[in-house]
Amino acid sequence: MLDTPISDLIVSTFRIPTDAPEADGTLAWDETTLVLVEATADGAVGIGWTYAPPACADLITGTLAGIVRGRSVLDVSGCFEAMVKAVRNAGRPGIAGCAISAVDVALWDLEARLLSMPLHRLLGAVRERVPVYGSGGFTTYDDDQLERQLSRWVHEQAIPRVKIKIGESWGTETGRDLARMRQARKVIGDDAELYVDANGGYGAKQAIRVMAEAADADVRWFEEPVSSDDLDGMRLVRRAVDADVAAGEYGYHLAYFGRLCAADAVDCVQADVSRCGGITEWRRIAAVAAAHNLEISAHCGPHLHAHVGAATPNLRHLEWFHDHVRIETLFFEGALDPSGGSVRPDDAAPGHGLTLRADVAGRYRLG
Ligand SMILES: [Mg+2]
Repeated sequence: MLDTPISDLIVSTFRIPTDAPEADGTLAWDETTLVLVEATADGAVGIGWTYAPPACADLITGTLAGIVRGRSVLDVSGCFEAMVKAVRNAGRPGIAGCAISAVDVALWDLEARLLSMPLHRLLGAVRERVPVYGSGGFTTYDDDQLERQLSRWVHEQAIPRVKIKIGESWGTETGRDLARMRQARKVIGDDAELYVDANGGYGAKQAIRVMAEAADADVRWFEEPVSSDDLDGMRLVRRAVDADVAAGEYGYHLAYFGRLCAADAVDCVQADVSRCGGITEWRRIAAVAAAHNLEISAHCGPHLHAHVGAATPNLRHLEWFHDHVRIETLFFEGALDPSGGSVRPDDAAPGHGLTLRADVAGRYRLG
């Protein structure tokens, strides 16, 4: 086992149409691309993926595969370090960061499978169940679509936290933002928590005014009220509103999160395993957050985060993101159930417990 070498990385790219047009405050999309990595060793296969452009696949096959091939399956951290060094000139944020992230997750899964251990146990689980919040509420939804989605999470699945998108059209539709927040509060009732995400669509003073006007909606979480690059603006909003301010989904390396925390700009750090450098870097980011007395919340890709989330002491919750839930449930056998407001990683299945449904995925394969 100690000497089992990593054989290869096999990369596949899939493009999956959304089930309806989707948009947030600053971006619209109607399809999602998934780049899947299968890491192989001694007859076992570890699976990782990222939601990122197809260009990731070239970087993985052309650069990263040659770096990890032949290294011990137990040497995930060493693989991570070597991959990070290799993309110095390509630039880690963006494509390279997503590519490294997908490989890192696949390698952790591979190691756990070869050890016949559930991944969350290998990582040192501190909880059995991982809290989730329902996330969607796209600005493209009409009233009926929003009501259906929120009702399903809160009233059918008993998820006590939900998030909708605001900041529509770069913050130029605040009247509609306010109406949708109020509709959401009405649909979910008094007991569930309402979260909003402006995806950087507002200016700082505008964000503060919107939250003051929305006081009757009792918003508890205000994600990216302004651009997450505007640390001064986020700090200004954070000090002025009751809701927790959160950001971090575009962080691709540890130094980014060090600056975010040091700036006093957020009440909760967000990080994304499919971008930040996989599970290896996620754990270090969580430690940086903990050193600043902050919790960390997992951004999107819920099945990428469930196991490391169970092993992260200062985890707040993970994002049960509509688009990715739909894709991961379609693509993988072993998808998790959020009923009651949390997911429970499988203690009986090795690795992250997911098996690719190759026949289903094949229908969405690119090229
Ligand atoms: Mg967000």
